[in-house]
Amino acid sequence: MVGRKLFINGEFVDSNEGATFESINPANGEVIARVAEAREEDIDRAVQAARKAFEEGPWPKMSATDRGRLLRRIADLVLERRKELARLETMDVGKPLRDSSKVDLPLVVDCFQYFAGMADKVMGETIPVPGKFLDFTLREPVGVVGQIIPWNYPLLMAAWKMAPALAAGCTVVLKPAEQTPITALELAKICQEAEVPPGVVNVCPGFGEPAGAALASHPHVDKVAFTGSTAVGKLIMEMGAKNLKRVSLELGGKSPNIVLDDADLDEAVPGSLFAIFLNSGQVCAAGSRLFVHEKIYDSFMDRFLVGAKKIKIGDPLDRETQLGPLVSAEQLEKVEIYIQIGQEEGAKLVLGGKRPDHPALAKGFYFEPTVFVDVDYRMRIAQEEIFGPVVVVIRFSDEEELIRMANSTIYGLAAGIWTTNVKRALNLAKAIKAGNIWINTYNMIPNQAPFGGFKESGVGREMSRHVMDLYTEVKNVMVYLGKGGVRWFS
Ligand code: NAP
Ligand code: MG
Repeated sequence: MVGRKLFINGEFVDSNEGATFESINPANGEVIARVAEAREEDIDRAVQAARKAFEEGPWPKMSATDRGRLLRRIADLVLERRKELARLETMDVGKPLRDSSKVDLPLVVDCFQYFAGMADKVMGETIPVPGKFLDFTLREPVGVVGQIIPWNYPLLMAAWKMAPALAAGCTVVLKPAEQTPITALELAKICQEAEVPPGVVNVCPGFGEPAGAALASHPHVDKVAFTGSTAVGKLIMEMGAKNLKRVSLELGGKSPNIVLDDADLDEAVPGSLFAIFLNSGQVCAAGSRLFVHEKIYDSFMDRFLVGAKKIKIGDPLDRETQLGPLVSAEQLEKVEIYIQIGQEEGAKLVLGGKRPDHPALAKGFYFEPTVFVDVDYRMRIAQEEIFGPVVVVIRFSDEEELIRMANSTIYGLAAGIWTTNVKRALNLAKAIKAGNIWINTYNMIPNQAPFGGFKESGVGREMSRHVMDLYTEVKNVMVYLGKGGVRWFS
C-alpha cells in the first residue's frame, strides 16, 4: 500500500488536517493506497495557487505555441508510462486491462496531442461593422477552472478536463472521484516532470462534500466543469450561481439503442453487446435501452443472449477478461436494487440479475450481464440510469411510436441506430433528442468530435474545437480609424 499526497502549487503535500482516505481495488476489496483527503482549506490553498499562477506566474506570459509544446510533452510522458498507468487504472476502477490499455490510455495520449495542436489555433475574428472602424475579437482564457470528475474513466476524464483548459491558458484545480484518485495523481506527477509551472495544475482528491462543494462554490474560481450524475450536476449549477461561474456539465444518460428490421444482425448484435456491457455498463452513454423491431425480435434476441452469456467475467488484470467488477460495493448495491425494482414492475429477467457464484470472484464487486425483456418504456428500469451491466429490451413496430418512446426520458446524451437504410437512419438521427448519434456503431467518442448532452444530460459540448468555447471569454475590440468620430457633445 502506498501513500499519495495532494498536488498543490507544484508540490506533493499532506492535507492541512492530515486527513486521509483509502482507495480500494474493486476486484478483491483490498486497500491499494492511502490518499491525502482535501478539505475546504486545501481546496482554498489550491485555488489561491491557481489564481496566482494565472495572474502572475510564467503562465500568462507563455506563448500559445509553448503551451502546446508543454501539452505534447505530457502526451509523450503518458505514452512512455502507458503500461504502468493502465495497470494502476485497472486496479483502482476494476475495468479489464484490455479496456484500460486498448481504449483508455490511447485516448488519453491522443487527447493531450490533439489539444497540444489546438493551443495556437484558438483565435478571434474580424467583423465588418458599419463606419470607419476596425472591429475584432480576442479569445482569452476564462481564468481559474475547478474540475470535478467521476470514477468510470478516471484518467481519461482528467485528460478531457485538463488538456483543453491548459491549451486555452487557464489554470486548473481538479478533484478526482473518491473511488479512483490514483491515476489523476500520476498525471500530476507527469505535469511536474513536464515542468508545468507551479500552480497551473493542482490535483486534490477528496469527497464530494466537502472538497467538491468547496471548489464549486469558491468565489475565486471562474468556471467549473463537472462530469457526473444529473442530481449532483444540478447542485453544482446552484453553487456556481453565487459568483456566476461559467458552468459546463456532462451528466447521466439512458440512451436508446435501436435495431430496425433491416439491420445487418452480424453488425447489430456485437455492436449492441458493446453498447451496454463495455466497462460493465458504467458508461454515461451506455445503450441501456435496447429497442428491437418486432420483425427481427426473435432472431436478434437469440443471438444477443448467446453473445451476452459468452462474455468472460474475471480478474480485470487477466488479459482474457472482458467484464470486470463494478467500481464499489455501493454501486453493486444500487444495481441490485434496480433488479428488484424491475421484477416488481413486471419486467422479465432472462439473463443474469445476480453476482457470479464463482468462489474466486466472491470478494470483488462483480455482477453478471443482465437482460430484462417485456419492458414497458415507462417503467423505472427504463427511465432511470442504472449504471451497471443491465439492459432493458423494448419491442416496437411503429417508427413514430419508437421516436416518442426513445425521447421519453429526462436524458438526451446519446443514441444508436442499426439499419441498412440511409434515409431511415438519418430521419431517426434528426428526430432523436440527443447530443451524440451513432449509426451502425456505438460508444465511439474520438477527441476530435464534440460530446455532450441535450436536456438533463448536460450543458455545453466538450472535446473538439467546441470545448474551447467553454474555456475562453470573447473580448470585442473596436478601433476608430477615421477623424472626427465622436462629436456628440460638441
Ligand atoms: P456523482 O456522484 O455525481 O460524482 C461525480 C463527482 O462529483 C465526484 O467527483 C463526486 O465526488 C463529486 N460530488 C459528489 N457530490 C458532490 C457535491 N455535493 N458537490 C460537489 N461535488 C460532488 O457521479 P458518480 O456516481 O461518481 O458517476 C456516475 C455518473 O456520472 C453517472 O450518472 C454517469 O452518467 C455520469 N457520467 C457522465 C459522463 C458524461 O460525459 N456525460 C461521463 C462519465 C460519467 P466523490 O468523489 O465524493 O464521489
Ligand atoms: Mg479504487
